[in-house]
Amino acid sequence: MRSGQWKDKSGYTYGLHGTPTTFTLEARLAEIEGGSYCLLAPSGLAAIAMVDFALLKTGDDVLLPDNVYAPNRELGRWLSNDFGISARYYDPLVGAGIAELIQPNTKLIWTEAPGSVSMEVPDLPAICQAAHDKGVLVALDNTWSAGLALRGFDLGVDIIMQALTKYQSGGSDVLMGALITRERALNERLALAHMRLGMGVSADDAYLVLRGLPSMKLRFDAHDASARKVAAWLKTRPEVTRVLHPALADCPGHATWQRDFSGAAGLFSFVFDARYSEQQTDRFVDSLALFGIGYSWGGANSLVMPYRIGAMRQGWPDAGTLVRLNIGLEDTADLIADLERAFATL
Ligand SMILES: *Cc1c(COP(=O)(O)O)cnc(C)c1O
Repeated sequence: MRSGQWKDKSGYTYGLHGTPTTFTLEARLAEIEGGSYCLLAPSGLAAIAMVDFALLKTGDDVLLPDNVYAPNRELGRWLSNDFGISARYYDPLVGAGIAELIQPNTKLIWTEAPGSVSMEVPDLPAICQAAHDKGVLVALDNTWSAGLALRGFDLGVDIIMQALTKYQSGGSDVLMGALITRERALNERLALAHMRLGMGVSADDAYLVLRGLPSMKLRFDAHDASARKVAAWLKTRPEVTRVLHPALADCPGHATWQRDFSGAAGLFSFVFDARYSEQQTDRFVDSLALFGIGYSWGGANSLVMPYRIGAMRQGWPDAGTLVRLNIGLEDTADLIADLERAFATL
């Protein structure tokens, strides 16, 4: 015990610092992403917060994409209001133009590929190049690709965050997050925050995610195939003006998706024609039978969520309601029939 080190995975010192079960899960997640180190957190959002608390201090600046996962934006607001850290927001399609936004005190750039509501696909190599030229670290929320369809480290990112709550678990019954890195020194900075904030996870929760991992690739591919069929069908509907699925040309950053990704998730959005009121599109959502109303995704059950996207994104071009779909593992024809019935209620 005296010679032991809490950072050292060769032994077990205390549950918060790891158990045989959590170390096993960490090793597998690092391998999937092509990384070397992994830390688990009690939720995806806890993992995001751990990055900020590990890497930012008073006087620093962090850049977040304007389409960032909303709780990450809320965290940025808290850092700005109460911790003396400036959080600024950039156009997710800025690419190499991010260089002009980097200040001497900028320490971290968050990226999300794609943004999980408005679905723009960022140019990660261009952002990473500009960041690294100025000594700034890049963190990627890689939840959408599950680490299967996007090789974040090969594109230059320094930290990969995963909400294991989604595809890794697959069961919609556990909350967990992970931070994966390649550099030992960077992992140690994150591990210090992990230790100081008590971000451990229980072995039973880790076990649930370990049960989901072996089937993740099969599930991901099934979600992908079904979602692309539903997206292509939605493209044919007169009620819909844009289908924001990265594999379709309607989606900003589609060419970047083609260059950088080897697949797509089951999560995408579409935009109703502005002639339909929010009351009408709410009726559409309410009348779906196979789609539950819910924020989460990555599980077997299809989910739907309407957003007031104009209030979330600066300069959003569409006036119609944006609806996000999580395509589950139900029969695709049943899902399309359900959507068709709901369109008829408009
Ligand atoms: C769900 C989600 C998170 C956070 O995960 P939780 O486990 O719910 O905290 C982060 N980013 C994205 C893109 C997500 O969809």
